[in-house]
Amino acid sequence: MPIRQDDNRPTRRFGLVNILLIGFGVLLLFSNFLPNPAMQVPRVPYSLFIDQVNDGNVKRAYITQDQIRYELTKPPEEGAPTVLSTTPIFDMDLPQRLEQHGVEFAAAPPKRPSFITTALSWVVPPLIFILVLQFFARRSMGGAQGALSFTKSKAKVYVPDEESRVTFADVAGVDEAKAELTEIVDFLKTPQRYMDIGARIPKGVLLVGPPGTGKTLLSKAVAGEAGVPFFIISGSEFVELFVGAGAARVRDLFEEAKKKAPCIIFIDELDAIGKSRSGSMGVVGGNDEREQTLNQLLTEMDGFTAQDKPVIVLAATNQPETLDAALLRPGRFDRQVLVDRPDLSGRKKILDIYAKKVKLAEGVDMDRIAQATSGFAGADLANLVNEAALLAARSYRTAVEQGDLNEAIERVVAGLEKKSRVLQPDEKKVVAYHEVGHAIVGHLMPGGSKVAKISIVPRGMAALGYTLQLPTEERFLNSKEDLEGQIATLLGGRSAEEVVFGEITTGAANDLQRATDIAEQMIGTYGMSETLGPLAYDKQGGSRFLGGPANPRRAVSDSTALEIDREVRALVDRAHERALAILRHNRDLLESISQKILEKEVIEGEELKQLLASSTLPEAAVLERVAA
Ligand code: ADP
Ligand code: MG
Ligand code: ZN
Repeated sequence: MPIRQDDNRPTRRFGLVNILLIGFGVLLLFSNFLPNPAMQVPRVPYSLFIDQVNDGNVKRAYITQDQIRYELTKPPEEGAPTVLSTTPIFDMDLPQRLEQHGVEFAAAPPKRPSFITTALSWVVPPLIFILVLQFFARRSMGGAQGALSFTKSKAKVYVPDEESRVTFADVAGVDEAKAELTEIVDFLKTPQRYMDIGARIPKGVLLVGPPGTGKTLLSKAVAGEAGVPFFIISGSEFVELFVGAGAARVRDLFEEAKKKAPCIIFIDELDAIGKSRSGSMGVVGGNDEREQTLNQLLTEMDGFTAQDKPVIVLAATNQPETLDAALLRPGRFDRQVLVDRPDLSGRKKILDIYAKKVKLAEGVDMDRIAQATSGFAGADLANLVNEAALLAARSYRTAVEQGDLNEAIERVVAGLEKKSRVLQPDEKKVVAYHEVGHAIVGHLMPGGSKVAKISIVPRGMAALGYTLQLPTEERFLNSKEDLEGQIATLLGGRSAEEVVFGEITTGAANDLQRATDIAEQMIGTYGMSETLGPLAYDKQGGSRFLGGPANPRRAVSDSTALEIDREVRALVDRAHERALAILRHNRDLLESISQKILEKEVIEGEELKQLLASSTLPEAAVLERVAA
């Protein structure tokens, strides 16, 4: 995306001072190798010098620490040099000997380094050091990641310009999220309107959803729609080896952002810094760095109050359940926007966006493609269209044909299947009956919630489909009957598989886990068993550190333990029988809703309400018989 990178720090030129300093350094290095005039004098062995002294042939000598230079009275032969030099050896008798033979001699004063040399040796090394530092500092300022940029935030600033800016029109299939974010755009554009009425502008919005569903794209679109600068940084970029660096970066980021307000800070992969602090306690030493970074982020978010120049922090994560509760408090990321995988009509819209960017052959049916790509996220669909275009180009065709798209689906699916997100048709059928089973039982069970949505669009790694139950009233207490209803609802999925296919799959593992948990709590925590009485058999507040169960059992006799197990088992069995009875009784409805959802993938709202309204409980006698 051709977005202008806005760097307000000018790069400094290589100054004159620097050049001079380098010159000095070079001179100093080479001064040792410069030819020394003293070296021209022929050098002779020390023994020869002593011989010549003894012969009385030496007129005068000049003695320094590393050289004796002397002049002969007469050269040994015609034309030979009269000035010679030798290397002194440690000889205490030398002065006496010279005196005896009448040699005129003098010694050089102890060698003292010249002023220049001294000055240079003090000044140059630190200067070289400074130069090196500057070099790295300059590199890090240029936006590249320099070695000394620990405390600078690595956030990139995008100032959306006209032709490259992303808008809501570029994002499709996530209508609820778009609706929520439209409000944010409004805050950014006209903060005054909200201030006048005394409303507090939200500071943080958390986008939650699986990878590739367009979270980053959406936040760019918010910036594009509002026409404000957009800082983007990934949570993992805050976390460094050095404790405190992350916190300093957060500070720096907010400082920069405040200068550019109104603007948006987008923190991608928030879970990298926002992991629940209590969750890491079991780990030896915890994670100081991450905690400090998180604390700094919280402080900064609490800190900025300038309402007329809002800085809104958008963040994205695909693991909202791991986030620290402190992040989700009011005044921080108190708004959460679900960015889910698109349903059939959403996929169609996304495909339309990307189909416009390639040349399509006549009569390509995008609806069929949308139908065949259940579970694909926006990024997968974009990838799919591109793969198809590549295939067409490879075989020298000028437009993308249906066959290319079909082949591309297979390619993308092959990549996705590893991540177990795409369902085979027969699996999809099982999931459909399973979810409708939950919905019908859930609808008929007492308790303050209603079934709001059934979906067979796979979500995340575990859930292949889901049935959403929303509470119709706020509830703080659950009766025994409510809880039994919840267990039956959870078992409704598996029961539907039994009723329809006569066999069961692994898809119900999570349901069974939760059902068993509820049953255990009913007996062990809430004292809801008639035979066991109002005793709490579970101890509250188990140890987290050892990774044991949250509520270990109190010390009980073997026979009581056996009784508890029996009661839990009986509760679950009863609920299972109940679910089976309900589904057998509503067999036709189970069939018709399942067919409908196989077609549409998602049923919700009024339509769902009407469908479920025709479900009926079996006669009381049947349920009684089951319960007995
Ligand atoms: P996320 O941040 O949720 O992991 P991205 O926003 O980075 O996903 O999406 C990656 C790319 O996939 C986007 O740049 C865009 O091309 C495409 N994409 C994803 N979701 C959508 C969508 N809902 N509508 C249009 N394009 C999408
Ligand atoms: Mg992203
Ligand atoms: Zn289920």
